[in-house]
This record gives sequence, C-alpha cells and structure tokens, in this order.
Amino acid sequence: MNERAHFINGSHVASTSGRSQPVFNPAVGAADKSVALASADEVGVAVAAAKAAWPKWSKTPALRRARILDKFKNILWERADELASILAEEHGKTHDDALGEVTRGLEVVEFAIGAPTFLKGEFSENVGSVVDSHNIRQSLGVCVGITPFNFPAMVPMWMFPVSLACGNTFILKPSERVPSAALKMAEWLTEAGLPDGVFNVVQGDKEAVNALLAHKDVKAISFVGSTPIAEYIYKTGTANGKRVQALGGAKNHAVIMPDADLEMTANALMGAAFGSAGERCMAISVAVPVSDAVADALIEKLVPKIKALKIGATADKTSEMGPLVTEQHLAKVRGYIDTGEAEGAKVVVDGRTFKQDKQGYENGYFIGGTLLDNVTPDMTVWKEEIFGPVLSIVRRNSYQEAIDLVNCHKYANGTAIFTRDGDTARNYSQDVEVGMVGINVPIPVPMAYHSFGGWKSSMFGDHHMHGMEGVRFYTRIKTTTTRWPSGQRSDPEFTMPTLG
Ligand code: NAD
Repeated sequence: MNERAHFINGSHVASTSGRSQPVFNPAVGAADKSVALASADEVGVAVAAAKAAWPKWSKTPALRRARILDKFKNILWERADELASILAEEHGKTHDDALGEVTRGLEVVEFAIGAPTFLKGEFSENVGSVVDSHNIRQSLGVCVGITPFNFPAMVPMWMFPVSLACGNTFILKPSERVPSAALKMAEWLTEAGLPDGVFNVVQGDKEAVNALLAHKDVKAISFVGSTPIAEYIYKTGTANGKRVQALGGAKNHAVIMPDADLEMTANALMGAAFGSAGERCMAISVAVPVSDAVADALIEKLVPKIKALKIGATADKTSEMGPLVTEQHLAKVRGYIDTGEAEGAKVVVDGRTFKQDKQGYENGYFIGGTLLDNVTPDMTVWKEEIFGPVLSIVRRNSYQEAIDLVNCHKYANGTAIFTRDGDTARNYSQDVEVGMVGINVPIPVPMAYHSFGGWKSSMFGDHHMHGMEGVRFYTRIKTTTTRWPSGQRSDPEFTMPTLG
C-alpha cells in the first residue's frame, strides 16, 4: 500500500518506525493508502533539522522571507484545485468546500507576507540623558503545529505562514487521518525557495506528539483539535517550559430573535449546520429560537431544506454534503442521535435513515442531515460536541433566557444572533461569553488579519491564532537601552536608574 511518510530537511523521508495505519477514502469506505506513525527517534531527526536551519533563517531579512511566502502563495493560487482534491479525498468534504478552505488558508499567507511591516519595532529617544531605547520582536526557534482532521490545509496555514514569516522554523504533525495535504504544501514551500529544514512534516499519532511535547529544543506548540487533547497539550507543553496555544472543541449556538428574517436565517443555518457534514469547529449545532412561534416557523422552513440536501461524494460536483470522516465517527454521531431520542428529544428529520445508493459509494460513511427539537440543557446532545450534521433546537422564551443558555455552556468558540434590532445585536455582542460572534453571520470566522480563537474550554493559552495575536505568539520582545557617551563622565551609581 502507498505510504505517506515524513518531509524532513527538504526531502520526503521514508519511515523507520515500522508503525503505520490505513488512510481511508470516506466516500468509498475503503483504504487505498497508509500513513507512517513516527517514533520518538524520527521526531528527533526532524527537530534537529529545524534547529539547524533556524540561525540562518531567523537572520534572513524579513522581506526575503516574505518573498518566499509570496511565491508559495502564487503556487497555492495556481494549484488550489489540486490541493482541494487531495484533501477532499481523505476528508470527504465537497470540492467547493475544500477550495474555500484552501482560500481561507491562503489568506493567512497573504497576511504573513506583511512581516516586514508587522515586525517593525518601537523606538524612544532620550529615555534618559543621552539614552535611547528600542524594542524588537525576535523569533523563538523551533515551533510545532499539531492539527486536526477537519481542515487539512487551512488549520496548518493558521500557523506556519506566520511562524515562518517571523523567523521560526516549523514542524507540522498533521492528523493521521489526512496526511497528504501537509506533504504537498511542504513540496510547494521548497519549490518556492524555502531553505531545507525550515519546514518539516512528521506524520504520527500520540507517540510523535508526546515526543514533540518532551523535546527540549521545541520552543512553542500550536494545537487545534478536541478539548481533552487540547487541555493535555497545554498542561504538558507548559509544564515542559514551552509556549502553547491549544484550541479545542465547540458547541456553537445561533439565537433567533422574533424580528429575524426567517428565510435568511434558515438558509444561513443550513450552511452552518450541514456544510462539511457539521465537521467544523464553527458549525452551528444549536439553534435557539426565542418563542415557540419562532421555533415552529423556523422548523417549517428547515425541514424541506434538510430533506432536500444533496448528499454525495466529493467527486460529484453537485454534492452539498459529504460523508463523515471515519466509520467510527459515523457510529459516534448515530449514537448521539439515539441518545438524544432516548433522553426525550423529538427527531424531526432523521439522518439515520439515509442510504447512499450511488454506485461505488454504498459503503461510504454517509449520514443524512438531522433535526432534533425540544432539546433541553440536561441532555447529552446539548452538553457534548457531536461534530456531525445534527442541528438541535433549544426553545427559549426571552432574549435573557437565550443568552443565559449560551453563556452557561462550557464551550465558547463561536456564536451568532439573527435579528433586525441593532440594540439587541449590540447587547449580544457585548455580553455573550464567546470568542467569535456573528450578527446575522452564521460562521463568523475572522479574516486572516484578525485573530481566531474561542474562550473557556474551547481554548487553552493566551494568544489566538493568526493576525497580530499570531505574531505575538511566535515572537518575543527584546528591549535594548543604548547610551553613546558624549564625553560626560560620572562616578558609579548603585541605585536603580531613574530619570530623576
Ligand atoms: P483530535 O483531538 O482527535 O486530534 C487532533 C490532533 O491531536 C491530531 O493531530 C492527533 O494526532 C492528535 N492526538 C489525538 N489524540 C491524541 C493523544 N491522545 N495524545 C496526543 N495527541 C493526540 O481532533 P480531531 O478529531 O482530529 O478534530 C476534531 C476536533 O477538533 C473537534 O473537537 C473540533 O471542534 C476541533 N477543532 C477545533 C478548532 C478550533 O479552532 N477550536 C478547529 C478545528 C477543529
């Protein structure tokens, strides 16, 4: 079987660990390749390569680094279709959705090209008598990205373009379910002129992750994935003295006020709940209509749309929703719907009954869109992240009840409110305890020059990703105070220097 392995020091490298696992095509339901699972020794080789490349790369003028990223960006534009096909085959998302993902990643590369501007320091003259002071942002050294299956190109690009632009070297450990996109991006970075060792890919599972967490030469770790692993990465990484940003899971609510445009809201919810089969950390998985009348009217609009969803393989350009990523994940999502029903939710549209009959895809990990009504906060389907095409309706009677519901959830990644009232919208955006907020925008993923991140159990660490928060994460400040004596001589001073 064709094996996806590592990319170290500018070349593809075969694995020596003897460990691997199959990589599935979720639309077909079969594996046609495998992925190597690195040993701690292989991780050590990648860290050594990145460490060796860092002194020269960190001293390369920011403009030169930016030019290489600019070439990489042009390659991405030209070959976005190729990268989208590669990642969609392993993930299962539709081709257009995959193209959207590549574009959102590319926008971070565009931001990172601004490094000569955003790395400019600050200077103060005459902080004392003939004394000046300036500060600069310097790179950290070897940085690591550990990424989830659901955005094989975009999430790595939240990290490495900014990290490289700031002068760090980088090791990407992609999800073992989607190993190919990372290798393609490594090839294209090399083609763009990136020196060997500056960007490396190590495939693997927790053995590789633990080796990266423990390695003394790794300075910073960016993680995106589920909350239990995010918390583990944060605690272990920081205990080992590393800088860590770890983004976790989500349960995103959309509050629908009585004055909302319901047709617009229903269409927005369709894309946000069922796009990418709900396997997005910014997917809306809970709709909170304010009043029973709003709930009933919304359900009436949603039901025919959910039943009409075009569910198929990425190869079929008419598909609106693909399969789930693995057989195990399909079983988990089906299990959540079973539990929701058993705990008293009303299954208004039942995705469990969906059968894929298109030839060649009968064994794919497909499920239909599901709508659950009368979900309450004591139910498992409200408390836990399902990460599938399941939209729960939690009915509330007032704005206050709705925002209280959102604010008491442990996850706080994204949220949206649908209303025509500016006062309500403004209050919501001020008072909701969630990291990213949409006003009549269902998936408020910040642009590359803003920063991405949630609150509470959706993120561990201090710095969000990309934008200026990314720059802060990947650099440290150094302040230099300078005196050029002008013939003035003084006796030794033993007190703390002050302006006097
Ligand atoms: P995951 O946590 O299973 O895996 C993420 C990464 O962690 C992978 O690279 C994996 O190899 C590694 N990993 C898994 N188990 C590990 C262990 N025991 N020890 C060390 N490393 C381990 O997540 P996933 O299933 O790939 O992705 C889906 C999750 O990611 C969802 O919870 C989703 O909400 C979340 N996510 C969050 C964001 C965000 O921005 N907050 C974005 C995308 C995805």
